[in-house]
Amino acid sequence: MKKYQGNLISKLPQTGTSIFAVMTRMAKEREAINLSQGFPDFPIQGSLIDLVTKYMKLGYNQYAPMEGVPELREMIAHKVKKTYHATYNPEKEITITAGATQAIYTAISAFVRDEDEVIVFEPAYDSYAPSVKVNGGMIKYSELIYPDYHIDWEKLPQLISSRTKMIILNSPHNPTGAVIKPEDLQRLEKLIQNRDILILSDEVYEHIIFEGIRHESICLYPELAARTLVVGSFGKIFQTTGWKIGFILAPENLMAEFRKVHQFVVFTCNSPVQYAFAEFLKDENNYKHLAEFFQAKRNYFTELISAGRFEIIPSYGTYFQLLNYEKITGEKDKLFAERLINENGIASIPVSSFYHDQKDNKVLRFCFAKADETLEKAANILCKI
Ligand code: PMP
Ligand code: GLN
Repeated sequence: MKKYQGNLISKLPQTGTSIFAVMTRMAKEREAINLSQGFPDFPIQGSLIDLVTKYMKLGYNQYAPMEGVPELREMIAHKVKKTYHATYNPEKEITITAGATQAIYTAISAFVRDEDEVIVFEPAYDSYAPSVKVNGGMIKYSELIYPDYHIDWEKLPQLISSRTKMIILNSPHNPTGAVIKPEDLQRLEKLIQNRDILILSDEVYEHIIFEGIRHESICLYPELAARTLVVGSFGKIFQTTGWKIGFILAPENLMAEFRKVHQFVVFTCNSPVQYAFAEFLKDENNYKHLAEFFQAKRNYFTELISAGRFEIIPSYGTYFQLLNYEKITGEKDKLFAERLINENGIASIPVSSFYHDQKDNKVLRFCFAKADETLEKAANILCKI
């Protein structure tokens, strides 16, 4: 194809291909064990597949309503009520999205205008900053303090200005596995109480939280919830990352604005999968086991590698374990991650990719949402490094 000859001014000049795509492609090419991108390598529940098949055979194969299948929105409202004692009206305050990624993008797009400022905590999930920038917003980065990645409450107030439109929260936190504490949310509430600031709360790992810690959902804090869009993902609730269905909760007036954009981004999402999730959600045993299940995976992985030279940074939630490698080498995390794929056959994510300035604490992220056999093979390799 002949190249475009016009005046091409990129809206995202600094943005390359997502690190998850890059590392997974490299892992495939080198036939490495892939602990980079966050997805399970074990089968999902067969009964869920049966339900999708059932709804396809029943003929639920055309457009679902724009805001999502009513049965699924009702089940989400029920789940949120039961888990966080919060009431969201399924008709007006819950929308089904094509994964959390689309919910995040659409929420930013609906509210962030040119030159509005958005506060993003770093290290940050990779979609936040580009979604803000492409919509004309400016980012103010707040660095989480290494090694436990807590919020810097001394510096955060200095980032707030009359232009601050939104703060993006993520707990349990990708990539670090850190979790927000009640004190954090109490402080946040005070900090923004007289300001016109929205919160986008990415809670996709709400059920993957360890040591019996309660997930501090924004839904538990009515004052904050009144100005928050809360994002969830069935990719993480039912381990179906490839089905790309998520949801968003928000007060009616915020949701009305969200839907104005949503209808022109995707209009609506996969219909039979939504019906299947609605039925599957009726049995809470289908997701109540997640904390215990993934805590056992985390424990198995960390026990296996404790004989090696990597230093374990505690993970309290998510699919991810951070490992510091300073005792092994002083090289940059991207180079070390590349070498691990090429020379040792194991793929991880260099944590500097989650910082706008590539800050390098010599830490790699490993996904433990894998079959025990995969974790054993990976640990065998890691222990020899
Ligand atoms: N937010 C975080 C913190 C994530 O880790 C992910 C990846 N699962 C997403 C959003 C995107 O989720 P989805 O695959 O549902 O788009
Ligand atoms: N959330 C997953 C991760 O952090 C991957 C998402 C993606 O590939 N964009 O690895």
